[in-house]
Amino acid sequence: MIEIEFDLTTIGGASDDPFLDGEEVGFLLESTKHHITQHVQNRLGQYRCPTHGEPARVVVRGQYDLETEQLEVEYGIDACCNAMVMQSAALLGR
Ligand SMILES: [Zn+2]
Repeated sequence: MIEIEFDLTTIGGASDDPFLDGEEVGFLLESTKHHITQHVQNRLGQYRCPTHGEPARVVVRGQYDLETEQLEVEYGIDACCNAMVMQSAALLGR
């Protein structure tokens, strides 16, 4: 298991007839966290830097736009060295 930090926010104003109400948006964000956690742990959970033996740390930033009802998620990776950052990104993106 590696450390994953989430920074998920909602932006924009809801339309008059939103597809998802507030509770459903909360549920969507929670289930998104759950899926991302599984994905990251599957790909990187056991991976350690071959040089330094350190795990990567992943920061997940996401914005749910209430107006367009789109969720944008990006991954940030912190690690002991550039090689580990690049290797972790490659493993995550595969
Ligand atoms: Zn390293």
